[in-house]
Amino acid sequence: MNEYDSSKMADVLRACEGMVQTERSEDADVILFNTCSIREKAEEKVFSDLGRVRTLKLTNPNLLIGVGGCVASQEGEAILKRAPYVDVVFGPQTLHRLPQLLQARRATGRSQVDISFPEIEKFDHLPAPGLSHGEGTQAASGTAYVSIMEGCSKYCTFCVVPYTRGEEVSRPLADVMRDVEELVARGVKEVTLLGQNVNAYRGAGGDGDTVDFAYLLQSIAALDGMERLRYTTSHPRDMSQRLIDLYATMPKLVSHLHLPVQSGSDRILAAMKRGHTVLEYKSVIRRVRAARPDICITSDFIVGFPGETEQDFEATMKLIDEVGFDNSFSYLYSPRPGTPAAELRDETQQEVKAMRLKRLQDRIEAQEATVAQAMLGTTQRALVEGISKKDGKELAARTDNNRIVNFSGAAGMIGSFVDVKITQVVRHTLRGEL
Ligand code: SAM
Repeated sequence: MNEYDSSKMADVLRACEGMVQTERSEDADVILFNTCSIREKAEEKVFSDLGRVRTLKLTNPNLLIGVGGCVASQEGEAILKRAPYVDVVFGPQTLHRLPQLLQARRATGRSQVDISFPEIEKFDHLPAPGLSHGEGTQAASGTAYVSIMEGCSKYCTFCVVPYTRGEEVSRPLADVMRDVEELVARGVKEVTLLGQNVNAYRGAGGDGDTVDFAYLLQSIAALDGMERLRYTTSHPRDMSQRLIDLYATMPKLVSHLHLPVQSGSDRILAAMKRGHTVLEYKSVIRRVRAARPDICITSDFIVGFPGETEQDFEATMKLIDEVGFDNSFSYLYSPRPGTPAAELRDETQQEVKAMRLKRLQDRIEAQEATVAQAMLGTTQRALVEGISKKDGKELAARTDNNRIVNFSGAAGMIGSFVDVKITQVVRHTLRGEL
């Protein structure tokens, strides 16, 4: 989501101010930090980064420094108190107002703050996708992000998202379709639909009706040239049967589902206010697997939520064994200011939590290796995304189940689908041959 938002910041500055991206911060007239406040560590990072670029103002007096994203949304004016040399502070929903904010800063000499939530206004003011460096590169690789909804209305007790990005707001169907059609016309073959809870999508259709996420997927899959659909992130409560059924009938929908569960203990799920039980989560996975037997399931976990006992943690490990997750984003619980869980008593020692996290990650890593081994010798249809980051020579392609496979091939293949036979598994990386 942040990557997508950053590319949109580049889009608006290119369109309104004719700016181009620089490789070195020393060459920049505007430096923006797009921040994340999901955990404390991510939040602290921005202030150390700000300190680093502050001195550049000495050599370039025109340099403007901005802070956007969720830390900006959460802290607002407080950022200026801690870092008075910051020129603009804007939230995820006001990034389209960047040119006006920069102009106002230049005209008045005063720092500007706009962290309001003008709902879906943002999307009406963004230039067409693909003008930015970020999306241009993505389009060349045959894949692109498309944001379909913003915010979250679930109010899980640990999470800041409803307070920093606002409640769930879906873009109208016609707007999403226009973006996707433009991308297809530019050669994009795969889109990843983005949002905090994409499967909560309820967009205005035609004639005053509302369409759901399954309908949106069907509409996009019907476009000629659109070959693969991904989405992230989703919520277990919004996994409707209509959506699950698509795994049986829509081959364009990839064999990978990222479905955050956070914990395998009903007691902790209730304290987190997730709105579902472990059994209900397993029921979703069972039905998805009935529709698509070879699907890879990945998830998010929070370890060390206040009051998590050894028994609760063992329940999470049991769920991991039962589901056989292929990968995870797993972190220690981080208290977020203003969230209900931040008020809860937490007596578990940090070392105990760290040990639990290590055990959980080791178990999932072992499962990841099992999935990789099972892919050995198979031929996978993969979309060539670019040059491999590993050695800078081979090509890197993404399989349907979201694995990267490196192989030797011509650069002209970037942006196309190829059939790759998996010949080697080195830790997490797959190697293959055309
Ligand atoms: N749809 C997702 C869901 O079902 O929760 C929402 C994605 S959420 C914005 C991204 C992930 O960040 C969450 O799944 C959670 O694991 C993690 N996260 C959120 N708040 C956290 C906190 N206070 N401490 C640690 N991890 C957190």
